[in-house]
Amino acid sequence: MTIRDLLAAARPTLSYELFPPRTPAAQSTLEQTMDVLAATRPDFMSITYGAAGTTQGASRDVVRRLAADHTVPPLAHLTCVGQSRAELVAVVEAYLEEGVQDFLALRGDPPRGQADWRPHPDGLLYAHELVALVREVAHAHGVTNLSVGVAAFPAQHALERFRQLGLDVLRAKQDAGADFAITQVFYQVDQYTALVEDAAAAGIRIPVIPEVMPIVNTRRAVRAAELTGVDTPAELCAALEAAEDDAAARAAGVDHAARLARGLLDAGAPGIHIITFNQSAAALELVDAMGLVRG
Ligand code: FAD
Repeated sequence: MTIRDLLAAARPTLSYELFPPRTPAAQSTLEQTMDVLAATRPDFMSITYGAAGTTQGASRDVVRRLAADHTVPPLAHLTCVGQSRAELVAVVEAYLEEGVQDFLALRGDPPRGQADWRPHPDGLLYAHELVALVREVAHAHGVTNLSVGVAAFPAQHALERFRQLGLDVLRAKQDAGADFAITQVFYQVDQYTALVEDAAAAGIRIPVIPEVMPIVNTRRAVRAAELTGVDTPAELCAALEAAEDDAAARAAGVDHAARLARGLLDAGAPGIHIITFNQSAAALELVDAMGLVRG
């Protein structure tokens, strides 16, 4: 069953985002995290795709492991960064051969140390072209059981100057063959509902899964804002700073994320995608606090 099929079923999905490990110690932490999180019976786990060659290989290894285990379906992130069209075709072909059915097609962030994004000379410019490429490769190989996701940006949508372009871009992704979207991190339920309602009014019907990040310390709050450009809410920063120890800070971060997740589910979100930072404790506490019924 693809993620598209899961989203067509009535119950909300539960899923996690992992990133590829860079060291043997990180690899071992990731494996433990995957095992612990698999016990919550998630619908899928997504694996990010870095700009550097080595982490791309590590992403592929994690996706392969999940695909081979047949327990939790992998959602393979793919980006246009630093790869020619032919290289992207080869990656998609390899994944399809390994039984991967779900892809998240992204443009990607620039490699570390590079301020602006530059396409590969023989590569793709925008994410919607990658959606089309995945569809083309699947079609050429006779694979029909496939779903393709894309990124959506509720916090950006709240800004008037980005709104129309954001909707046009999301529509281009849908027109290219996207089946669903996963959002960037954000902190206000009304930003999500505004995006979904405006998208529907513009003829965009794909389900939009919100991403929720339990922010469990001040360092992570600062880093999340740097990476996404979305300010961490002042009341969450204050609660993290006021916490007496790590456990109290984690409780504050999980509580904040759980209230957001419950609000999103009440507003009709088709699932919750949890950013884990490859750690299981906060994610598990969040799943518990959300009260998501797993069948
Ligand atoms: P695009 O849709 O290509 O948009 C990129 C920029 O171009 C945007 O500013 C958009 O407005 C503009 N644009 C698009 N089409 C047009 C057009 N026709 N005309 C003019 N402007 C246009 N990054 C990674 O490197 N690896 C990951 O694994 C990863 N995972 C992510 C997962 C999620 C759920 C999200 C939300 C983001 C993730 N990112 C990841 C970050 C993402 O790659 C960046 O946010 C990137 O800047 C935008 O990606 P996109 O896929 O939306 O790109």
